This record gives sequence, structure tokens and C-alpha cells, in this order.
Amino acid sequence: MSGPDRPLGLLGGTFDPVHYGHLRLAEEAREALDLAGVRWIPAGLPPHRPAPRVAAAHRLEMVRQAVAANPAFTVDDAETASGETSYTVTTLDRLRAEQGSRPLVLLMGADAFLGLATWRRWRDLFALAHIGVATRPGVELSLEELPAELAAACAGRLDGNPDALKTAPAGRVVQFAMTPLAISASLVRARLAAGLSVRYLLPDPVREYIDLHHLYRATDGR
Ligand code: ATP
Repeated sequence: MSGPDRPLGLLGGTFDPVHYGHLRLAEEAREALDLAGVRWIPAGLPPHRPAPRVAAAHRLEMVRQAVAANPAFTVDDAETASGETSYTVTTLDRLRAEQGSRPLVLLMGADAFLGLATWRRWRDLFALAHIGVATRPGVELSLEELPAELAAACAGRLDGNPDALKTAPAGRVVQFAMTPLAISASLVRARLAAGLSVRYLLPDPVREYIDLHHLYRATDGR
């Protein structure tokens, strides 16, 4: 499969802030799953967690700066622009309509996948996209240890072969190994709040943006 019909990866997240764990996830997914590219979709108001520490416009801009040098990465601002709670299923409905029958692969870390059964209309996700799950340090992922209803929904969908993603627009679940990076946005925020360095945890333009706007300091504005 070539050109426009190769699968398109989708990476949603709070990106509060974006870091090298996200970037390696997207880059290694692109290689491992033979994706045409990865569309980054920063959440506006994520439903499953406390409000992000900084405003959507800042998080969006940091993602833009982080991915700017990679022609395989694009940024989708629909969730940050909407001002409403961001539901992945709503975004996938939109992208499915936009992309026709092209395979879509919703990318996520193992921690996010373990919580999938709490997402709005989560069973509908399988009809809209494939799911590509990246290993994440500290998170064990085996079918036996999945929450029961998630394991049941995944039965018959798990595939070790990434080529399976090209044979249908949606519905497979593929795990892929990525370079283990125990970087999290929480860690980055905690270091910044403590006045510690975050150099080499995220791209320099993002670090400079954080400095310029005084984000994540103990006394920052949102
Ligand atoms: P926080 O620490 O605030 O919970 P986070 O670092 O997990 O944030 P998110 O924006 O919530 O970042 O994550 C977006 C997606 O990237 C999720 O699917 C998450 O599992 C994945 N991800 C983030 N960091 C890593 C990492 N170091 N390795 C693998 N996957 C990651």
C-alpha cells in the first residue's frame, strides 16, 4: 500500500507539556506500523483528569513547536479550538468522515490503553480506528491483566502483525515496543515547579517557550 492509503496515526493527549516520550512514541509508531504520518491532537478539556495546568493555546503551541521539524507530523487543533470537553470518539467520527476508508490508527501508551473502558462510547472506537499501543515503562500489558470488559472487547482483535492495519480501516489492536523512556508530563511539571532543569526531557523550542511564558513555575499564571 502506498501514498494516501497507508495508515494515518493519531496521537491525542493533554501534552501538558509535550516531551520526548510523546515524540518517540509517534516516531517509533510511524516506523513500526508503517504509518504515512502522525496527526497530533492536543485535547482541549480532557474528561478523565483534572484540568490541564496550562491553557489549551499554550499546549497547542508547544506541540506545534515540538513537531515543526518533522514533515511526517501534523497538528490538529479541533479539540483545543472547540472549548468543550474533548472526547476521542467525537474526534474519530470527524476524522473518519474526512478520511473515508483509509486505515486510522489511534496511538496511545499502555497506561492510556488500560483505562480505555472508561472512555465515552469506547466500544465504538474499534469501529472507527485501529489501536496501536506503545509499551511504557512501569506498565504491564498482557491480555490476562486487562480489565475484563476491555479484554472481552479486544478478543479476536489483537494482532502481532502490523500489516493487519492495512487490510481494514479499523478494528485491530496492535502492540508495539518503543524505546523505554520514563518521561512523563507530570515529571516535567514537578521539575519546573521545583526550579529544576528539564533540558533533554523535551525539545529546546518547547523549553524556551515554557521559559518565555513562565509556565509551570510554582507561581505561574495559567
Ligand atoms: P501526565 O504525566 O500529565 O499524566 P503524560 O506524560 O502521560 O502526562 P499525556 O499527554 O497524558 O502525557 O499522554 C499522551 C499519550 O502519550 C498517552 O497515550 C500516554 O500513554 C503516552 N505517553 C506519554 N508519555 C509516554 C512515554 N514516556 N512512553 C510511552 N507513552 C507515553
